[in-house]
Amino acid sequence: MNDDTGRGFPVPDGADNSTVSETAAGAILTIDLGAIRENYRRLKARLAGVRCAGVLKADGYGLGAAQVASALIREGCDIFFVALLSEGIALRKALGPGHDIFVLNGLPPGSESEALAAGLHPVINSIAQLGAWREAARAAGRKLPAAVQVDSGMSRLGMPPADVEALGTDAFDGIDIRFVMSHLACADEPRNPANEQQWLAFERLRKALPAAPASLANSSGIFLGPLYHYDLARPGAALYGINPTPGETNPMLPVVRLQAKVAQTRSVEEGAGIGYGHTYHSRGPLRLATISLGYADGWHRRAASAAWFEGVRLPFVGRVSMDSIILDISALPAGRLGEGDLVELIGPSQSLDDAAAHAGTIGYEILTSLGARFHRRYIGA
Ligand SMILES: *Cc1c(COP(=O)(O)O)cnc(C)c1O
Repeated sequence: MNDDTGRGFPVPDGADNSTVSETAAGAILTIDLGAIRENYRRLKARLAGVRCAGVLKADGYGLGAAQVASALIREGCDIFFVALLSEGIALRKALGPGHDIFVLNGLPPGSESEALAAGLHPVINSIAQLGAWREAARAAGRKLPAAVQVDSGMSRLGMPPADVEALGTDAFDGIDIRFVMSHLACADEPRNPANEQQWLAFERLRKALPAAPASLANSSGIFLGPLYHYDLARPGAALYGINPTPGETNPMLPVVRLQAKVAQTRSVEEGAGIGYGHTYHSRGPLRLATISLGYADGWHRRAASAAWFEGVRLPFVGRVSMDSIILDISALPAGRLGEGDLVELIGPSQSLDDAAAHAGTIGYEILTSLGARFHRRYIGA
């Protein structure tokens, strides 16, 4: 146990932190909390004094919101964002009182008292949400904190410009506006003119609201430069090792390693049908290994992909099954890989972003799809 600062809550270092034991599991997910801390420090260094939150939606992008929060708290992070009220309630339970937790999607109608009881702050995205929170403040008899989100051009969440400009002077009675915020649609494409258009729209909308600190940048937004930093950055992906600058060298440390166990190996003759639907037939004798990880663990069906063993690439053959994937291991010496051995799906041989690209998706989707059946090993706490 390691709780030297007295803040946060203890996270076992290198210990079994899941209900699935290492021997019973079909796959092992290793999460490096030390790398998350280093990534936070790297982003802070770029932000030159600007505050930096941690985005923990979808259970910390699948890696464990409470564990990630605990690591970030040790780096001085004291503002967190989740997507849903339910996630905020769970995080508050894990962290205890004291850190600001904002709910990005806003509060579902009628849930204001639940949010208040858990000490959570809404991101107000609409006139209706604003009215409900004003009413909650009146009932509570005190000012209530919130962030106000405006839509600067993504058309997803936040008050539309016409609504912002029509707000009366008493619209924010009883509300302590901690941040005015917006979200960039194309921050990972630095040359996309949408970034500057959103920046300009954000500038205009901010001026229509009461003066408050501002927040615009997600991970990639931090790399667009200081103009986009404002008073608070909101990185998620970069903390977890996803490259915030696609097309350039990843400035972040890798955080996750995913290894699956070999369940069985076999040899097949030329012409053998492999996997459901026989979508693959061997064009010669092959050696195969079946691993205990499948689409139920978030590795999508039909994903053209590969695993690695001791630096050797082992391509998937046939369809991904629910609980298993068949690998062509003919490139390895016979007998080298056997039952119980671990092959790598994400790690030193295949980065998260590379694995995602081969599977036809993005690192965000791989991480947040990772299943509940893995043994989770937290290191670097
Ligand atoms: C998800 C999200 C973030 C974090 O984005 P990353 O690309 O993961 O850094 C920040 N702000 C909002 C509003 C989000 O929805």
